[in-house]
Amino acid sequence: MSLTIYNTLTRRKEEFTQLTEGFVRMYVCGPTVYGHSHLGHGKSYVSFDTIIRYLRYIGYKVTYVQNITDVGHLLGETNEGEDRLIKQGKIEQKHPMQIAEEYTRSYFEDMDALGVQRPDISPRATGHITEQIEIVKQLIEKGFAYEVNGSVYFAVSKDKEYGILSGRNTDEAESGTRVDVKSEKRHPNDFALWKRAEPEHIMQWTSPWGLGFPGWHVECSAMSMKYLGETFDIHGGGLDNQFPHHECEIAQSECLTGKPFVKYWIHNNLITVNGQKMSKSLGNFTLLKDLYKKYNPLVIRFFILQSHYRSTLDFSEEALQGAKSGYEKLLNTVRQIRDVLSFEYRDLNQFKTQNPNPETILLTKFKSDFLDAMNDDFNTAQAIALLFDLGREVNVGLSKNELSIETLNAVDNLFSELGGQVLGIIPSNVDTQSGEGNQTADLMQIIVDVRAEVRSQKLWSLSDKIRDGLQKIGITLEDKKDGTKWKRQQ
Ligand SMILES: [Zn+2]
Repeated sequence: MSLTIYNTLTRRKEEFTQLTEGFVRMYVCGPTVYGHSHLGHGKSYVSFDTIIRYLRYIGYKVTYVQNITDVGHLLGETNEGEDRLIKQGKIEQKHPMQIAEEYTRSYFEDMDALGVQRPDISPRATGHITEQIEIVKQLIEKGFAYEVNGSVYFAVSKDKEYGILSGRNTDEAESGTRVDVKSEKRHPNDFALWKRAEPEHIMQWTSPWGLGFPGWHVECSAMSMKYLGETFDIHGGGLDNQFPHHECEIAQSECLTGKPFVKYWIHNNLITVNGQKMSKSLGNFTLLKDLYKKYNPLVIRFFILQSHYRSTLDFSEEALQGAKSGYEKLLNTVRQIRDVLSFEYRDLNQFKTQNPNPETILLTKFKSDFLDAMNDDFNTAQAIALLFDLGREVNVGLSKNELSIETLNAVDNLFSELGGQVLGIIPSNVDTQSGEGNQTADLMQIIVDVRAEVRSQKLWSLSDKIRDGLQKIGITLEDKKDGTKWKRQQ
């Protein structure tokens, strides 16, 4: 089964073909950096990270660009209010660029914890003002944009294709819009490419139309085309950006170049709280930093990937608790396998076989099912369910002592490849990254050392008391020539 992707542009799943064979050029709208990231950001960037990890895993050379919006994203549904960074700067009594710097750092910190790999390029909107001005100039020259009092607007009526992504046509959108008699726009749906700056507006640049700042939509066209070319493979973003942001990106880019802008549009669905979108403006958001105080960030990643990226994911403490216990169960299976591989059979040559045994053949089938799930529009929910199926089979095999060392190694490799490299939920070092596990290992080392001391003083009953006590809570000690090893009972 080859990779199929649901393309919002055509509203159906399509077989994935690249513009240049073997290479994928991909852009995802990044955060507006005026606050710490909440769970909604986590869902979006974990979903796209997993898509990119998978594309790389199946052999594509991916160039991934994700911008940082540090100017021009205004408040309000129609993006006509105050600049978000300037407003936050007033609240914190800081320069907007300081706000941008601090929250950009915070964003990457939070994403690193979630195992989100960094983009290849993270361009800042304020670092690409020249490119944005150039696009605006050319759009005026080509007759798609007009200037009024130092601001420039895109004339939506000039673009016959406007509405192609969202399915909204301009007449339909207009009927629900109150026409502001004072508006300088020729049509209510026209959008700003460049805005005149009032004297008190801190972020402003010189342009052919006077002092001003770029509109939000134009930055993504400027930065994506600069680094990925005028036509590229995939553009991603949150479903809430489909209209107007992405519709406007298509309009201005295609009118500028006369070429198709993007081949596949991928939209990630939202986190909801009691059925309502989680967002900063609605005030019903939970910060990732707050969740990290209670949960291993990889539990949150697991929670996100348990649903398909195009589905909404309803957040509640109970749902997250459920994800936590599911995740621990999966991780425990991996721990057991690695414990066995590192301690129990290490010296037992009789477990070594040369030919693939039946279990290994089952693993080939398992892997192809996993790839089918991911090839079906990145169905991570199904992929995780398959990891649990594998875990169940391994647990049964371990309890009956039926698995060879080759099989266990092959299973471990599969968990590392599919659960680690692709889904990013199984760390390469389970004990050191699961938080609780790391402490357990350290505690066990202390106990083992104390018991060795007790034994050297021939205090046998005390030594047995330690061993028996651990046995009761599920940990077995094995005294070997080179020291004492511990393992969890199955
Ligand atoms: Zn964007």
